[in-house]
Amino acid sequence: MKDTQARDPRSRIPAVSKLIEQLTELFPEPPPHGLLTQMARLVAERLRAEPTLALDRQLLVEIAKPLLQPGPRPVINATGILLHTNLGRAPLDAELVHRAIEQVKGYTDLELDLEDGKRDHRDRHFAELARLVWQVEDATLVNNAAGALTLALAALGGGGETVVSRGEMIEIGGGFRLPEIMAIANSRLVEVGTTNKTRLADYEQALNPHTACLLKTHTSNYRIEGFTASVGLPELVALGRSHNLPVVMDLGSGLSAMIPFPKVDEPFIEDHLAAGPDLLIFSGDKLFGGVQAGIVLGKASAITRLRKHPMMRMLRMDKLGIALLCHQLRATALGRSHPFAALAGAVPDSLRARANQLAAELGPHWQVVDEIAYMGGGSLPQERRESVALRYSGANPQDLAQFLRNGDPSIVPYLRDGALWLNLAAVFPFDDVHIRDRLHQWTDKRQSL
Ligand SMILES: *Cc1c(COP(=O)(O)O)cnc(C)c1O
Repeated sequence: MKDTQARDPRSRIPAVSKLIEQLTELFPEPPPHGLLTQMARLVAERLRAEPTLALDRQLLVEIAKPLLQPGPRPVINATGILLHTNLGRAPLDAELVHRAIEQVKGYTDLELDLEDGKRDHRDRHFAELARLVWQVEDATLVNNAAGALTLALAALGGGGETVVSRGEMIEIGGGFRLPEIMAIANSRLVEVGTTNKTRLADYEQALNPHTACLLKTHTSNYRIEGFTASVGLPELVALGRSHNLPVVMDLGSGLSAMIPFPKVDEPFIEDHLAAGPDLLIFSGDKLFGGVQAGIVLGKASAITRLRKHPMMRMLRMDKLGIALLCHQLRATALGRSHPFAALAGAVPDSLRARANQLAAELGPHWQVVDEIAYMGGGSLPQERRESVALRYSGANPQDLAQFLRNGDPSIVPYLRDGALWLNLAAVFPFDDVHIRDRLHQWTDKRQSL
């Protein structure tokens, strides 16, 4: 019964040579023959597995595209959000990426001490450098900052209580909330103070024999303004010292005072270190300019507890990430800027000059407009910067947006007030030519319709 149902559609499956012909037509420059054969074979397999499936362009593209361009694709970020989590956060320094790959592409002494031939921790490469650069007792790094925070609370606060101000009950983004992190870490959350005011006495009153940890978070994705009071890190550290309790600071964005960076309303890593928390946590891929990581600096005793916790095994960082962050830290110590810092430092006049140039080449429908850009990234979403945008007020902005997104390289604009906007704040100057070329393609396409 099954057979008879399937027989007809099966016989409809074209020969591989026929499929290759159809696939070839999809591409302006046909892929190598071997790849086309693989694609054709996979199309035939799909049709065999799902006999009701229609053999159309959509199916061919669906199968061909990931084979032709595996993985995330390069994107020109014209959204005006500099640190965009959907667009991979901080752009990387290609030179450092290259060096990191060279070091670890083969075998590497990731977890081996070459001196004595014994096993060692994989975070020691970063820790060695961090001790030198920041004069901290020790350091470690894990997969991301949310993981670092969870690990810190599990290792230091697990089985006991962790005290947090009600003004700092953060949601990190993607629905990852502090109370849920506490539950995973098996630490009881004790909230003190109120949303707008928390005093040292509030923390003091919450202390009891079950208190295991004091947590402070940098409320980087919102601000509480007006009638407010909060306890600074130095005071909290003093309180922790006097009660023999570890103090964990979740900083988030991780801006270092050692690199040139435009003035932002954001505290430096170094200022927080000076306050002496047991652990200071920040992301590797926000203002630090590296890859996704949770970087943890602090006291040797606290870092050791993190290293020994079973969760460390789940959160450990891979060799490529470790190598890159070591280079990033070295570059930071040498005062070398990174691509993100360069973008953030661009002055509106230079953006305007570029926008004028582009507008002149694009013709009517394109205006140069003063715009706002945001630091963004669940890090500094409120931090605004003056920027300049190209505004397209011609027909079919939606179609144009789709056309731009699907180009190579892809360009991601935004739509507002019935117009399409290309904000130049996060566009590298060397990408202007790609924007121009893609928009010319659009014009050509429309004229040929
Ligand atoms: C961004 C942020 C995090 C999360 O960092 P990830 O590296 O994305 O996990 C945690 N805490 C604060 C305060 C943040 O700003």
